Amino acid sequence: MSVQNVLNLIKEKNIEWVDFRFVGLSGKAQHISLPATEVDEETFVNGVAFDGSSIPGFRGIEQSDMVMMPDTETAYIDPFTAHPTLIIMSNIHTPDGDRYDRDPRSIAQKAEEYLQTTGIGTQAFFAPESEFFIFDDVRYENGMNKSYFEVDSEEAGWNTGRKEEGGNLAYKVPVKGGYVPVAPIDSQQDIRSEMCNKLADAGLRIERHHHEVATAGQAEINFRFDSLTKTADNLLKYKYIVANTAREYGKVATFMPKPLFGDNGSGMHVHMSIFNEGEPLFYEKGAYANLSELAIHYIGGILYHAPALIAITNPSTNSFKRLVPGYEAPVNLVFSKGNRSAAVRIPIAAVTPKGCRIEFRTPDSTANPYLAFAAMLMAGLDGIKKKIDPRALGYGPFDTNIYEMSDAEKAEIRSVPGTLEEALDALAADSEFLTEGGVFTQDFIDNYIELKRGEAKQVAIRIHPHEYNLYFDC
Ligand code: GLN
Ligand code: MG
Ligand code: MG
Ligand code: MG
Repeated sequence: MSVQNVLNLIKEKNIEWVDFRFVGLSGKAQHISLPATEVDEETFVNGVAFDGSSIPGFRGIEQSDMVMMPDTETAYIDPFTAHPTLIIMSNIHTPDGDRYDRDPRSIAQKAEEYLQTTGIGTQAFFAPESEFFIFDDVRYENGMNKSYFEVDSEEAGWNTGRKEEGGNLAYKVPVKGGYVPVAPIDSQQDIRSEMCNKLADAGLRIERHHHEVATAGQAEINFRFDSLTKTADNLLKYKYIVANTAREYGKVATFMPKPLFGDNGSGMHVHMSIFNEGEPLFYEKGAYANLSELAIHYIGGILYHAPALIAITNPSTNSFKRLVPGYEAPVNLVFSKGNRSAAVRIPIAAVTPKGCRIEFRTPDSTANPYLAFAAMLMAGLDGIKKKIDPRALGYGPFDTNIYEMSDAEKAEIRSVPGTLEEALDALAADSEFLTEGGVFTQDFIDNYIELKRGEAKQVAIRIHPHEYNLYFDC
């Protein structure tokens, strides 16, 4: 949509407010609204000022003036506001007019520009499967006391937010028993459909929705792949619409990777492929999983850099509570066709040459999608450039269930980092693949690591509920 199209839309739809959005390092959308009467051609040339010092990881108070530069291609009408509002995503510039080198959206664009300079291909496509839970909104009814981590668990034996005293226990979804049963077990058909309708109105092409494996309320909606920055924009739209539709139904949606102990967590598997002038580069008929050598090297880059990459694709302390064996979340740094216990899976069902892609299953939705997709592309491109061969380095392919291998066999296989701190250590030791072509700056990486270490420390110094089970009676 051009600037003129946006201005026309404002008139046609009687838009009252234009809501300019950006993301900081966390990947959460931030916004400032201007009266539509104040928005004209100039707004798109000069941008919208905001205070960068209040965004964690951005600038200090002494150089806090920042500018949002709106990208009119991203405009869509907010489906939730009583007053007609147009949402537009923005890049962040310094007051001098340069792209701010800590702006995640600019980093995503730089990664796409970098791809073009490598001569490898012209376009990288991404498709995330961002899972989430829809819970009853007990926070607002009962205060924060009944928090979601207090979930029934035979192992821990502590209090539960799910346990019902008496009543009819029919049609309850058992732990890990949620994969695609019809109603009345699945009670969330309408809420997911409503989410999808709103997403479609906002410009996403919906492919499907379904109940996910975990107990009542885990859901997944898939939307069509697109180029890197567009997919990250779409993911922001997705999270906004999912969370606010849930809110309209008196529920809450959470993308937190592991809200319930003892059941599946929520991942954000990311499907990727590279094209050159409309031709797919990952497909080679008759090869292993019909994958070209270029695709194999891309996988090599992802797996080789995975410990560092995971600091960006799984950037929360909670991320590592999902990455444990037994819950369809990957623990092993290997690739495989079809195998859901591998970090990289190659989908083989119903795949055409153009649909030929790899799936990195490690990421979760606490990732900032602009940074995560950019970092994955950089890792894959490094693999292609250096011809990193995952077969020669012990990354597979493994087409057996790795969870069921003997300990001796498993000992040969590398694992994902066990904690956020370990992942951050790996990133500190391996970040050159990200700074190629100036996509990520060293300043960005150092600042990111410092911010995230602070977060991990804040969690570590707090008293965990399970410590009461272990140590109260000592
Ligand atoms: N929820 C699982 C995860 O954490 C994935 C389940 C699936 O999509 N098959 O990655
Ligand atoms: Mg899926
Ligand atoms: Mg899924
Ligand atoms: Mg998947």
